[in-house]
Amino acid sequence: METPQAIRGTQDIFGAEAEAFAHVVETFERVRKLYRFRRVEMPVFEKTEVFSRSIGETTDVVSKEMYSFEDRGGESLTLRPEFTAGIARAYLTNGWQQHAPLKVATHGPLFRYERPQKGRYRQFHQIDAEIIGAAEPAADAELLIMADQLLKELGITDGVTLQLNTLGDAASRDAWRAALVEYFRAHKGSLSEDSQDRLERNPLRILDSKDPRDKAFVADAPRIDDFLSGEAQDFFGKVTTGLDAAGVAWTRAPSLVRGLDYYRHTAFEFVTDRLGAQGTVLGGGRYDGLMESLGGPHTPAVGWAAGIERLAMLVVDAGEIAPESPDLAIVPLGAAAETACLGLAATLRRSGLSVEIGFRGNMKKRMSRANDSGARFALIVGDDELAAGEAMVKDLATGDQERLPLHAIPARIGA
Ligand code: ATP
Ligand code: MG
Repeated sequence: METPQAIRGTQDIFGAEAEAFAHVVETFERVRKLYRFRRVEMPVFEKTEVFSRSIGETTDVVSKEMYSFEDRGGESLTLRPEFTAGIARAYLTNGWQQHAPLKVATHGPLFRYERPQKGRYRQFHQIDAEIIGAAEPAADAELLIMADQLLKELGITDGVTLQLNTLGDAASRDAWRAALVEYFRAHKGSLSEDSQDRLERNPLRILDSKDPRDKAFVADAPRIDDFLSGEAQDFFGKVTTGLDAAGVAWTRAPSLVRGLDYYRHTAFEFVTDRLGAQGTVLGGGRYDGLMESLGGPHTPAVGWAAGIERLAMLVVDAGEIAPESPDLAIVPLGAAAETACLGLAATLRRSGLSVEIGFRGNMKKRMSRANDSGARFALIVGDDELAAGEAMVKDLATGDQERLPLHAIPARIGA
């Protein structure tokens, strides 16, 4: 019988990559607490309309990338392609308005039917942070400052820049949109098929196109700056002065738009030059119009998400993950010692030591495995030692060994 293959675009993560993945999540958990973001857990699937109404029917995510299916009850469901829409739905259905401004964070798997390649998968994972019910530019700044601290604590800021743009308020954005339609219409025949299609329905998307035929025209496209209302300029100014006050470096990226339709005002990406085409590690912005698209009241909000796999690749490349050695390796010799050492190992682990214990092979094999573990000390326990309530403590660096009573071992190994 043939072994079934994994689904295309999914990954079985192991080794340094898996350690880096866990390190990203642990660091995020620590940093989000410093910034006082509360943890939320969200369903992996939602009614399809949660995404189609909020993200926008004409975006790539909704039109091409969603994993949607009918369940046995005939309802159209979708595996979440992003966190924000589901969190917005939860905010409305649970009455979380009472907690506004609500700062929440989560992480987990997302699903998009994309062309798999390095840094781009069909099941991937994100860390995510949102501030809901906050119209103040300080919220945008705080989120960006948190993202910056996270990348710094992960040790991966080399070659990473924060690209920042404003999409303006509704009026600025509409005027910009009209100018973009007019501009791109004049070049329609030279654009990619996708962008010809986007032209009338969603011209901002052309700015985000990765097709070289479109990129040629993006450089000279009308800029949002020429259409920004005074209010929108003021808002953006407060975000950037907030970043400056916190010493967060940023670069203005006037044609940066995001892959989803709901963004207003601030839009940003942390981009690296180290991951080839998949260079965006963290992206987000303000989504003041999203709650209304889900039938809720006007609710200003801002958030970001970062791909854990992409961050983990940078962590591995930066050499931030060293294989962890145990504090000690226990080598039991004989059946009675094996049982006794299970107890000894449990006692030591309960006191906070990391302990490797070997059950396989002869004495020589067990010793060589203890050496390979990278532990500083090996505890060798045979029948003699057992009878005396002692163990042989071997310093694997120097080769010195001494017999000690079991209770004296933690002190000897410096625990
Ligand atoms: P891209 O332009 O790379 O497709 P995006 O704009 O679609 O990214 P977002 O929806 O903003 O991405 O998601 C935020 C982050 O999630 C991205 O910056 C990236 O790190 C990660 N991400 C998005 N899609 C994938 C994927 N298919 N595989 C791995 N990571 C992904
Ligand atoms: Mg995408």
